Amino acid sequence: MRKKKLIVGNWKMNPRTLPLARTNFLSIKKAASAYKNVEAVIAAPFVYIPELAKLASAGLSIGAQNVSAEKEGAFTGEISASMLASLKVKYCIVGHSERRELGETNEFINKKIKQLLSAGIAPILCVGERDRDHGMLYLGTVKTQLEECLAGISKNMMGRIVIAYEPVWAISSTANRRDATPEDCQEMHIYIRKVLADMSGGTVADSVAILYGGSVDEKSAAGFIATGGADGLLPGRASLNPKTFLAIIKKTNELK
Ligand code: PEP
Repeated sequence: MRKKKLIVGNWKMNPRTLPLARTNFLSIKKAASAYKNVEAVIAAPFVYIPELAKLASAGLSIGAQNVSAEKEGAFTGEISASMLASLKVKYCIVGHSERRELGETNEFINKKIKQLLSAGIAPILCVGERDRDHGMLYLGTVKTQLEECLAGISKNMMGRIVIAYEPVWAISSTANRRDATPEDCQEMHIYIRKVLADMSGGTVADSVAILYGGSVDEKSAAGFIATGGADGLLPGRASLNPKTFLAIIKKTNELK
């Protein structure tokens, strides 16, 4: 498990303009450097990455929200892992539920993870069930996501992967959403680590950072880490407001 907590802001398709992206990134960067127990990342839209990467620092690095499953070639509109690596992108989200909604399968996500690892970028693999209405089946859903998305990845590489547990029913944009509790988070984090241990052994499983995401804000952040056992957080909506995002970082930094 990691010493520093990892806080990744998923900006999704925001903000509206590059100047606003720069302003927000800079105000986060200015304050984030004081919080030494946290590693902060902004996963920005592709078009902002070249500019924001120039502003990144040890306290605030840059991530991407997607990558091509292919290495190079005739793939119109795609962005490769090596292109992202050339811009000093450190992390890349894959398997987000909003992309799974567009048809991305576990097999496709697996290809993206392999591209990222070969380019030296840490994949942040999102897993999570759509709902909890069917007994304990949600555990099986997450197990299958992990096994299929991580198929064929060596133990060596496994330690470089970050997992984000994001129950879709708790994400802010989900209709009729409800809050997940730190106990929901804790149960799944223990389970994810068990699945990873079965796949790659306990030592590897212990080294993988497992984040929580789903409507995290400055009030809920500490509970998901202190009680929920998360190694960090993946806030979406709350990362769009620098003040709120910094409050999440501050709360996290204060935890032992
Ligand atoms: C997300 O979609 O990755 C996410 C966690 O969003 P939000 O925090 O807005 O629920």
